[in-house]
Amino acid sequence: MPDIQVNPGQRYLVRFSPKRVPHMFTDVLIIGGGIAGTRAAMEIAPSLSVIMVTKDKLTQSNSTYAQGGIAAVLDPLDDVEIHAADTISAGKGLCDEDIVNMVVREAPDRIRELIQYGAEFDKEDGEIALTREGGHTHRRVAHALGDATGREIMRAMIEAVTDRESCETWEKTFTIDLLTHEGRCVGALVWNEQHGKTIVWAKQVILATGGAGRLFRETTNPEIATADGHAIAYRAGAVLRDMEFMQFHPTVLYIAGSARHLITEAVRGEDAFLLNSTGHRFMPDYHELGELGPRDIVSQAITEEMEKTQHPCVYLDLTHLDEALVTERFPNIREVCARFGLDLARDRIPVRPGAHYMIGGLAVTKDTVTSIDGLLAAGEVTASGLHGANRLGSNSLLEGLVFGRRAGLLASEKAGAMPDSFSAIPIHDDGWFPPEQTTVAELDLNDLGNSLSSMMWRSVGIRRKAEALDQAVRQLEFWNRFVSQREFHTTEGWEFQNKLLVARLMAAAAQSRTESRGVHSRTDFPQADPTQARHTTISS
Ligand SMILES: Cc1cc2nc3c(=O)[nH]c(=O)nc-3n(C[C@H](O)[C@H](O)[C@H](O)COP(=O)(O)OP(=O)(O)OC[C@H]3O[C@@H](n4cnc5c(N)ncnc54)[C@H](O)[C@@H]3O)c2cc1C
Repeated sequence: MPDIQVNPGQRYLVRFSPKRVPHMFTDVLIIGGGIAGTRAAMEIAPSLSVIMVTKDKLTQSNSTYAQGGIAAVLDPLDDVEIHAADTISAGKGLCDEDIVNMVVREAPDRIRELIQYGAEFDKEDGEIALTREGGHTHRRVAHALGDATGREIMRAMIEAVTDRESCETWEKTFTIDLLTHEGRCVGALVWNEQHGKTIVWAKQVILATGGAGRLFRETTNPEIATADGHAIAYRAGAVLRDMEFMQFHPTVLYIAGSARHLITEAVRGEDAFLLNSTGHRFMPDYHELGELGPRDIVSQAITEEMEKTQHPCVYLDLTHLDEALVTERFPNIREVCARFGLDLARDRIPVRPGAHYMIGGLAVTKDTVTSIDGLLAAGEVTASGLHGANRLGSNSLLEGLVFGRRAGLLASEKAGAMPDSFSAIPIHDDGWFPPEQTTVAELDLNDLGNSLSSMMWRSVGIRRKAEALDQAVRQLEFWNRFVSQREFHTTEGWEFQNKLLVARLMAAAAQSRTESRGVHSRTDFPQADPTQARHTTISS
């Protein structure tokens, strides 16, 4: 029995008839082309056909935007047990220790593979240069292009995947829903401009759709991160876990009117200070590791300082650091700041927290098996057990590599053992009312989207409490009443429906956890409650 049940409404977001849409057959369908999806693709036997769909260009993913790097024990003075201990300590009692050990032990091999695929990491004296990030007790974060690690890794992964003849990539192809028949996932309904709605039948489906940052007004995530995978899996009946845990990154560039650029933790790893608007360096008041305390503590501290000083942001100060080091290590951030007339090495940089990493997601085993037969999942869309209640920085690219590889291996093995069958199963868009009862959408989606993300930021954000959560749930249910009965015909409409569903799941999960743990902070229950040191499961 799940802890929480939320009715997802219609099983499928749109009406479709198998008689009226094009069909495509493949051995493995991979939904998502970030680090998890591309890494999975590399493991599928070349004799099997693979289709990888991405909703935007292949270069648009959270993975591409990753800055700081990937954590792995590469220094002989470091130890995998210490990496595991740091991860478990950040996770505040909810990490699955077997998973943590498995991931940290695999980490060095996964990095060496990236190098074989062509990724070039920054070097120091001929060895991979390593930096330190919050919560890590050792320098173990490998980086590339200074502060654009994701761009370099994804360049290499995309080249490697596109070189594989057996793998077709469909860009700008939106997955509307997973198709299920008798409890088994048999493919997906996708949409693109060339073919409209299309059914892709697959022997195995890997979901690797990434995160949910766009649920919140303030976020580091690019536009693709609208929680589609969480929503489509939930509608298909999957069990999700720990949906209350959204990690807020402490330092996001705050300049009204500009995109919210992340300022990597590695800046603090190189000894940058955090000052409030009065110039006071406040982090030592909150944590013994000062600016390198765990992300949840730093985000909470910043929020408190903003409240205390009645100022909309705090400031990162690098003015005491060697200018050459700042330029060499953070060329991209320096360039972004320069666009707004700020010099990273000489000015105080305005920052505040923003939604960053979705810890909750599909419950998966160590081999990426979900609760739906035929559906595997990897990367940020899952709750693998690695992060517990708080993710340690630079562990998530690693998670994408480790679990992406495992998903690819298992999908390849399973699909390889299944015979071809080129017949369409009579799946229908059950649940839709007759057309005359279904209103075609005429809503200002922009307005609704802004209202949703503002409310999530206010009421389901960094600091939560019962009254605000109750009010959020009522508001979400109100929106749901008129939105769920409509059929949308655009990606914006489907994205809004997905965000609304996942917001309902997140708010319900946040209501149910009446304690503060990791990234989930309740002002009405400020302490961790040992009796609640367990996962929250949610399903329809
Ligand atoms: C600014 C920023 C900096 C970060 N820095 C770091 C870092 O330094 N180190 C670290 O470890 N982690 C970092 N992270 C987190 C890390 O980048 C992500 O957790 C990780 O890359 C997620 O990989 P993924 O493959 O699961 O998802 P993504 O890389 O987000 O890929 C998702 C894919 O799914 C596709 N997709 C989504 N919905 C649909 C749909 N409906 N139909 C079809 N396709 C769909 C997208 O098009 C995309 O191809 C950072 C994140 C951000 C935003």
